[in-house]
Amino acid sequence: MAEAFVTLTSEIQAKSPSISFINSNKEKPLLFADDYTFKLNKITTTTKYWICTIKDCATKVHTDSNNGLMKSVGNHSHLPEKEKHEVREAREKMTHLKKHFLTLNIST
Ligand SMILES: [Zn+2]
Repeated sequence: MAEAFVTLTSEIQAKSPSISFINSNKEKPLLFADDYTFKLNKITTTTKYWICTIKDCATKVHTDSNNGLMKSVGNHSHLPEKEKHEVREAREKMTHLKKHFLTLNIST
């Protein structure tokens, strides 16, 4: 199992980061790529421009209008923010969903 996980991780890194999105009514949308957080900076008809939420970090991500990763620019000048509030909240929601589905499977 450990070997399979390492292989999978290196494949992801070799290609492109796995990205996910959170849309909030109160705040700007956020993009997560490999435990780094980006905020939406600018939208054009074809491209969304995301910038890292850490000040002084110049890393940017471009996605297309279907939220597909187009390119990642630069390298982060800091460690991933694994415990950032929004990320934690999203993970808690995912855990809740998993538990919910698990319960459904058992009862049927
Ligand atoms: Zn950064």
